[in-house]
Amino acid sequence: MSREDYEIVMGLEVHAELSTKTKIFCSCPTEFGGEPNTHCCPVCMAMPGTLPVLNEKVVEYAIKAGIATNCEIARNSKNDRKNYFYPDLPKAYQISQFDMPLCEKGYVEIETEEGKKKIRLTRIHIEEDAGKLNHDEYGRGSLVDLNRAGVPLIEIVSEPDLRTAKEVESYLRKLKSILEYIEVSDCKMQEGSLRADVNVSVRKKGATEFGTRTEMKNMNSFKSIVRAIEYEADRQIDVLENGGKIDQETLRWDDVSGKTFSMRDKEDAQDYRYFPDPDLLAIKMSDEYIEEIRKNLPELPESRKKRYIEEIGLPEYDANLLTASKYLSNLFEGASAICNNPKAVSNWIMTDITKELNERELEPDQIPFTAEQLGNLVVLIDKGTISSSIAKKVLVELFENPKDPMKIVESKGWIQISDEGAIKEVVLKVLQNNVQSVADYKAGKDKALGFLVGQAMKETKGKANPGMLNKMFLEELNK
Ligand code: ADP
Ligand code: MG
Ligand code: ZN
Repeated sequence: MSREDYEIVMGLEVHAELSTKTKIFCSCPTEFGGEPNTHCCPVCMAMPGTLPVLNEKVVEYAIKAGIATNCEIARNSKNDRKNYFYPDLPKAYQISQFDMPLCEKGYVEIETEEGKKKIRLTRIHIEEDAGKLNHDEYGRGSLVDLNRAGVPLIEIVSEPDLRTAKEVESYLRKLKSILEYIEVSDCKMQEGSLRADVNVSVRKKGATEFGTRTEMKNMNSFKSIVRAIEYEADRQIDVLENGGKIDQETLRWDDVSGKTFSMRDKEDAQDYRYFPDPDLLAIKMSDEYIEEIRKNLPELPESRKKRYIEEIGLPEYDANLLTASKYLSNLFEGASAICNNPKAVSNWIMTDITKELNERELEPDQIPFTAEQLGNLVVLIDKGTISSSIAKKVLVELFENPKDPMKIVESKGWIQISDEGAIKEVVLKVLQNNVQSVADYKAGKDKALGFLVGQAMKETKGKANPGMLNKMFLEELNK
């Protein structure tokens, strides 16, 4: 048997920090960072005698996420205590939700090589984040920072519907994009505001039962997730091929060694002793309340995509890519509004901007220039101020040192030469220096014209107006 005889099965538990202003059970700020233990109060530090009060915005944001992922929204819900001991959890229990989550039975649609696929969601529930442990730089132990304790989270649990690392990546990107569109989380993976527990098992193709799963905790980069899945699936297949069996355990992925390590196994599996939190009221939601949230949901990617195809006439592929991220889509709409040339803007995003993002390993939310600057770049091309080859250089500048394209063009001396006299001078010079190409052209080799234009572009460092160059070469050659 080989790797090809196995199928990988995966389900994700995704945690997203909600971008409410205040924490879930107190009025401390949720802001990332800050001096340790400055975003805290007796409630989120778990002082005895303090009582939590549920932040209504948290419920609203979770319901928004539920509606946007096609979930059924509960009318009755509650908070439960999940008991476990860890130094970053001062109450020794986390307030979460057990058997009555806010949202259930949704799905997210992804694109795969075999077409669209629905990944089913089991549930979305609300809970509080824990604090953070920092290793003392003097090596005396660990220091507890409770700034993050009580930051609201939603946990989005998927069914084990994912089959390849690529599907997992698409699913996570789609989920991230939806949460960004509806503005419930900033989804900054590098700050840990979106992180996933990846459950992986393998089974022989055609098998009906699932294999035993392992769970890789707190993954927060697409690249590591893909690597980790590939490593872990291979490891499990190896174990099975050698007659062993998989232990259900929690793993930690180490990016440096490219391996998974065991954190704890089933032997010490936690019994969380869930029970309803007696300090909090039951959550009851009316149809009107849920309807109100549904009505005020921002436009979702599917609807934007439809507009791009039907109203602007973009190909489906392009509309898909543009709406894959709210940041790209906003860039597209903002720049189009300025230059009134959506097709050109789409082209820039689909080609050069995508290429720069890949090369620089940037995500769309890290694009350093504004929609206005991109719009103005297209205006400069449309007005003939710069040629498209110069525009490519301006785009690189926008990534490196973003400012208004006209300022870039002026300071670099990149304004297109559209002066007839100046162009004629270059054309004559190039003709004089390339007698062979002139002869080739006259002998019927049309390609020679392209070469001559190229030489003239070189001569002017790409600044000559290409249309005028072409026209003038033809005039001279046909004299
Ligand atoms: P827990 O909270 O203990 O981790 P859950 O029952 O909530 O357990 O399941 C966690 C995740 O594991 C879900 O996303 C589910 O889809 C996934 N999962 C369950 N069984 C398997 C399996 N055999 N292989 C891969 N993933 C699985
Ligand atoms: Mg789990
Ligand atoms: Zn607090």
